[in-house]
Amino acid sequence: MLDVLIIGAGPIGMACGIEASQKNLDYLIVEKGMLVNSIYRYPQNMTFFSTSDKLEIGGVPFVSHNPKPTRPEALEYYRRVAMKHHLNINLYESVNDIEPAERGFTVKTSKGTYTTKNLVMATGFYDRSNTLGAKGDTLDKVHYYYSDPHPYFRQKIVIVGARNSAVDAALECWRKGAEVTMIIREDAISERVKYWVRPDINNRIQEGSIPTYFNAHITEITEDKVTFEQAGKLHTLENDFVLAMIGYQPDFKLLRQAGVELRESDMMKPVYDPNTMESNVKGLYLAGVVCGGLETHTWFIENSRVHAEIIMDQLTGGK
Ligand SMILES: Cc1cc2nc3c(=O)[nH]c(=O)nc-3n(C[C@H](O)[C@H](O)[C@H](O)COP(=O)(O)OP(=O)(O)OC[C@H]3O[C@@H](n4cnc5c(N)ncnc54)[C@H](O)[C@@H]3O)c2cc1C
Repeated sequence: MLDVLIIGAGPIGMACGIEASQKNLDYLIVEKGMLVNSIYRYPQNMTFFSTSDKLEIGGVPFVSHNPKPTRPEALEYYRRVAMKHHLNINLYESVNDIEPAERGFTVKTSKGTYTTKNLVMATGFYDRSNTLGAKGDTLDKVHYYYSDPHPYFRQKIVIVGARNSAVDAALECWRKGAEVTMIIREDAISERVKYWVRPDINNRIQEGSIPTYFNAHITEITEDKVTFEQAGKLHTLENDFVLAMIGYQPDFKLLRQAGVELRESDMMKPVYDPNTMESNVKGLYLAGVVCGGLETHTWFIENSRVHAEIIMDQLTGGK
């Protein structure tokens, strides 16, 4: 019987493991992919909006070449943290089922069964993408994750979305020789786009380098075309790839299955006490970005790493 089983080895699951170990709790982190699986799948050339000190966990200094670190620097950093703290992590093991047990929970994974007194779900949101909801949106040419611009060189690509990931992909692909068109539901680029990037995309749109259709949405995708609607009219473009950068959502199925209530009227936010991070299920805690439900921008590493300390203080009565 473990004191605490932590689901997810993202930065916040790792922070929970470190706190648990420092408080001499018998803990295990179970991660369905690789260490910091989400960060690994971020765009190859992405730079964090946080400065490196804000991404630190476990008291390990994060030294980066520039104030805002890159994805490879973050991967290196979190590997180092896992080594320094000798974190007890089972990688490539997925949690599939959570059941209440006599003194806690029984957790079934792809590789075994564990019993634990307490559970922390630090499962993030990056595994499940929203879908376009248009005919043809599951074709192979429709990509919901963006890695790097090379595959799109000299290709006609449509980028859907108006937030950071869409804008970063549009600018990078355009600069690396793709023919980029943006199709955006809203009437402007999001106010939340990084303040140093927003003028760049707006200027590219205004000068016509990246043709952009606002208040528009895709109705059909075929092997070589995209049809979209704008102001009641249908338009068709020749097209090789669609990059749907329209956001992601937490694993609501696993949360529900564990008994966690989701507030449907409030962006599917899970029910928990912010003072303790305990959910409506006794002994089941939530940590990291999973806490925001569909409002995935609410929590990030910077402001959620503190969850680890709050939770482990609860489990040890602050000792
Ligand atoms: C492009 C991009 C840029 C960002 N930049 C910043 C930034 O500059 N600063 C900042 O603070 N935040 C930033 N964020 C947000 C930040 O990356 C997330 O806040 C961070 O990854 C959250 O950590 P987490 O541990 O809560 O979740 P995640 O890192 O998503 O970790 C969750 C983990 O749980 C695992 N998991 C899920 N389900 C299961 C299961 N059933 N069984 C086992 N394991 C499971 C996943 O594989 C994953 O490894 C950015 C996000 C994106 C998308």
